[in-house]
Amino acid sequence: MTSALYPTYARADVIFTRGEGPWLFAENGDRYLDFASGVAVLSLGHDHPHLVATLKAAAEKPWHISNLFQIPQAEALARRLVEATFADVVFFCNSGAEAVECAIKTVRKYHAANGQPERYRLITFEGAFHGRTLATIAAGGNPKYLDGFGAPTPGFDQVPFADLEAVEAAITDETAGFLLEPVQGEGGLRVFPREFLLELRKLCDARGLLMALDEVQCGVGRTGKFLACEHAGVAPDVVALAKGLGGGFPIGACLATSEAAKGMTLGTHGSTFGGNPLATAVGGAVLDVVLSEGFLPRVAALGSLLRQRLAELEDRYPKIIETARGEGLMFGVKTRVPNGDFAAAARAEGLLTVLAGDNVVRLLPPLIIDEGHISEAVSRLDKACARLAAPAKQLGAA
Ligand SMILES: *Cc1c(COP(=O)(O)O)cnc(C)c1O
Repeated sequence: MTSALYPTYARADVIFTRGEGPWLFAENGDRYLDFASGVAVLSLGHDHPHLVATLKAAAEKPWHISNLFQIPQAEALARRLVEATFADVVFFCNSGAEAVECAIKTVRKYHAANGQPERYRLITFEGAFHGRTLATIAAGGNPKYLDGFGAPTPGFDQVPFADLEAVEAAITDETAGFLLEPVQGEGGLRVFPREFLLELRKLCDARGLLMALDEVQCGVGRTGKFLACEHAGVAPDVVALAKGLGGGFPIGACLATSEAAKGMTLGTHGSTFGGNPLATAVGGAVLDVVLSEGFLPRVAALGSLLRQRLAELEDRYPKIIETARGEGLMFGVKTRVPNGDFAAAARAEGLLTVLAGDNVVRLLPPLIIDEGHISEAVSRLDKACARLAAPAKQLGAA
């Protein structure tokens, strides 16, 4: 039977009927270790008791109020995000692309509020992914995503990854700031060097530019810090969050300093569903866990273990794995075989992963895993590598 959905995704032929922590169970009884986490969304895994209880309780209260009235759950979540980060104020929306759109608008409006509306252009980086709206495909600059959708939304100047000279050359009187993912997700798990982020911050301060970070994928504890930029000790002006913030419930957030958000005054932006009581209640429950004592250091420690175990795998299968890179529980395995083959072999061994650019396979386990799950995942990857290496050996022998 053909699907009534847009055919915009290549969907694997499997239906999951139950999830528990990092495990997913298929209709036919197969069990999978979920290192995809719905693309870094399920920060606390499947069926987390605290999230389930929170959503059930919220479902007994008004589901939707609209931002024309007070929403205490949204106030509370914003307060906690502010207390946990550089930010002073938060705008809630429903997805990553919307959070990035808000970040872009915040940066542009800041300069307009300063009497410099001509400063609206953002410098972005090759390999970026910022979402699929018209502005965010222009920001991402991937020709595949722009093709056929008309003239790209103006206002984005892309430079090579982490190239400071190119950045300096790209700055003009129209530049408003930078937009980047401290750890690129879709682009292939490339981590911006700390020194580069520090240099960008210096440029921002010297030239009156704003630093907007897209932490839709790498934020909310994924890298072992609440925000990935904390690894570099860099204070951003604006940060977009989404994926992991709702633990599976759709929510996005744009965080900013009050200075950076000074143009976002009454009536300048809005969202019907943004800050919805259900979404913000669940977001609060995610923070209860992610910001609890010892949680983030544990993610960092598990990340070190994963890094070490992947390095061993890389040594054992140099013809299959080129390198493994990432931070915390956000890892990419750059393969020497087509990444789709690697992911398929892993899935055949009961391990779910996500593809990325640069021939990378992403490992994005729920943040609640333990050492045993890492061993389990690595053992399944080992079998997948052995499976992929086997035909190559035969070819060599022939
Ligand atoms: C997923 C993602 C987005 C887009 O999020 P949506 O919820 O799909 O709109 C934007 N930026 C980054 C870095 C992402 O990983």
